[in-house]
Amino acid sequence: MAEPIVIVGAGQAGAKAAETLRRSGYAGDLVLIGDEPHEPYQRPPLSKKFLSGAIDAAQLWLYGPTFADELGLDFIKNDRVTSIDRAAKRIASKSGRSLPYSQLLLATGTRPRVLPLPGADLKGVHVLRSIADVEAMQAGLKSPRRIAIIGGGYIGLETAAMLRQMGHEATVIEAQQRLLQRVAGPEISEFFRALHTRNGVGIHLSAAVKAITGADHVDGVETSAGCIPADMVLVAAGSIANDELARAAGLESADGIVVDGQCRAAEDIYAAGDCTRFFSQRYGRSIRLESVQNATDQARAAAAAMLGATEIYDPVPWFWSDQYDIKLQIAGLNQGYDRIETTGDPGSGSFSLAYFQGDRLLCVDAVNSPRAHMTARRQLAGVTPRA
Ligand code: FAD
Repeated sequence: MAEPIVIVGAGQAGAKAAETLRRSGYAGDLVLIGDEPHEPYQRPPLSKKFLSGAIDAAQLWLYGPTFADELGLDFIKNDRVTSIDRAAKRIASKSGRSLPYSQLLLATGTRPRVLPLPGADLKGVHVLRSIADVEAMQAGLKSPRRIAIIGGGYIGLETAAMLRQMGHEATVIEAQQRLLQRVAGPEISEFFRALHTRNGVGIHLSAAVKAITGADHVDGVETSAGCIPADMVLVAAGSIANDELARAAGLESADGIVVDGQCRAAEDIYAAGDCTRFFSQRYGRSIRLESVQNATDQARAAAAAMLGATEIYDPVPWFWSDQYDIKLQIAGLNQGYDRIETTGDPGSGSFSLAYFQGDRLLCVDAVNSPRAHMTARRQLAGVTPRA
């Protein structure tokens, strides 16, 4: 009998790949192994309604409690895969399992970047990636607190918005000159700066963090803009790919396990989701995406490839972010733009920005404009990929 397909990482991509394999008719043995003590769950609500307590863990599950039985898969939680023996086609786990595989899918996601700062290990310093991370934060948020957030990207800003709505003080410390600098144009950055300022979030731009201060527990953040008192610090300074397993097994990784157009990292080894880097013909460069869209679509593509499909995975990336009553939806990637066209009035809270390179549409940021977002996705999908 053939050995099982083994999927490492029971997150958004791992679970979707398992589901796709079954729905596509794969009838062999299937193992999904993850190191968290939970069912596969959605991460986007972690910085939104789950943080505030508006929803509980059961509302994060991607599938019902009987999903493993329904999909006929061996779901192993709370165990970490520690090595891959490519010659023997086996994986080993922390708990001592040794499992053979016919094909392997790595869907190990990312982890928060840890800053090498004095005081980074003080009590009260947090990151936000998992249910456990949010539960640790919630334990320190039982009464009004002052939270300093290092990083003005999506996770930092969503958390700031939610903390304000929960009655806490929030200050965002951003090293760049504007919020969301890596991912959005200046007009969007300014829109969110003004939105957060109106909602009482302190924002420090171009501020370098020198240290997190405190004796045993954090009491502040020392920055180039001065000392910011804080009872809690959230480090939201980006993520790095969980690629150690792959690298130790001799697979190529460059902040992301390098996969080809069919999500293949090596013979009989595939990867999908946040942990991957792939060449996008659409954008003419190698990219690593961190989004539900990519985790879901790339997992589907990897599962199809494992069953013999030859289509190239080259999506129109899309993403969303919820902050207060604002939904920002992004279609495409704006890197390399030389011109922006604005539709609607940012002052009205509903508008969109289209980023062009010459005549070519690269990306659309839509603020409370779902129709503009959907139109952009269709337009971008119609763009002929570069040869
Ligand atoms: P993950 O969901 O991270 O799953 C990977 C799993 O693999 C994890 O459970 C990990 O613990 C496990 N694992 C790692 N190594 C091993 C190992 N060696 N052995 C066993 N298991 C292992 N995206 C959006 O599109 N919109 C949003 O609004 C949005 N908001 C977000 C808010 C937050 C707070 C976070 C953290 C992410 C958000 N994202 C959002 C991003 C989105 O959640 C991710 O892109 C998506 O979860 C990626 O799925 P994945 O399966 O690749 O990784």
